[in-house]
Amino acid sequence: MIQLHDKQFEIFIKQEIIEDKIRQMAQEISKDYEGKCPIFLAILNGSFLFAAELMKSVSIDCEITFLRVSSYHSTTSTGKITEVLGLKEDITDRDVIILEDIIDTGLTMAKIQEQLLGKNPKSLKVASLFQKPEALKTPIDIAYLGFELENRFVLGYGLDYDGLGRNLPDLYVLHEA
Ligand code: 5GP
Repeated sequence: MIQLHDKQFEIFIKQEIIEDKIRQMAQEISKDYEGKCPIFLAILNGSFLFAAELMKSVSIDCEITFLRVSSYHSTTSTGKITEVLGLKEDITDRDVIILEDIIDTGLTMAKIQEQLLGKNPKSLKVASLFQKPEALKTPIDIAYLGFELENRFVLGYGLDYDGLGRNLPDLYVLHEA
C-alpha cells in the first residue's frame, strides 16, 4: 500500500505484465504496418512511459511526436472545448496512430480523433494502454488495447493523481476502505 496526497493505493498490475503486453502490441502494429511508415502521436502527459516502451519494440520505420490536449470550459457556450496542441508535423496522407494512456468516458479521444481527421490523414487508429469499458459514454474504436479495467481510479506507469505517481513503475488502484 502507498499513500499519495490524502489517498491510499494498492498495487494492481505489475510492470512486467504491463510491458509484456506493450511488446505484444508493438509486434502487432509492426505486422499491420509493414511497408508503411506510420506516425505515432502520443498524448502527454500520461502516455510518456507507454510510448517509450512501445517504441523500443516497434520494428518498422516510424515517426513519433508528442501532443497535449487542453480542456477548458468555453466562456461563450456551456460546452467543454478540447483542443489538440503541439502538432507541427503535416499528417495529410499519413498513417497515424494515436497513443493514449487510458480511455475512460472516451470523450477526450472522440474530440482528438475529430480534430485529427480534419487534417486528412490516410488512416487514423487508436492504441490505448488501458480502457474502462463501463465508463464509456461514446463509442471509440480502439485498434490496439492493452488492458480492460474495472471502473476504478488508477495511477502509476505514467498516470497521476493530482501530479503525483507518474514515476511508479507498476499500476496502482485506489484503495476503498
Ligand atoms: P476521458 O475523456 O476518456 O473520460 O478521459 C481520459 C483522460 O482522463 C485520460 O487521458 C486520463 O488523463 C484521465 N483519466 C481517466 N481515468 C483515469 C484514471 O483512472 N486515473 C488517472 N490517473 N487518470 C485517468
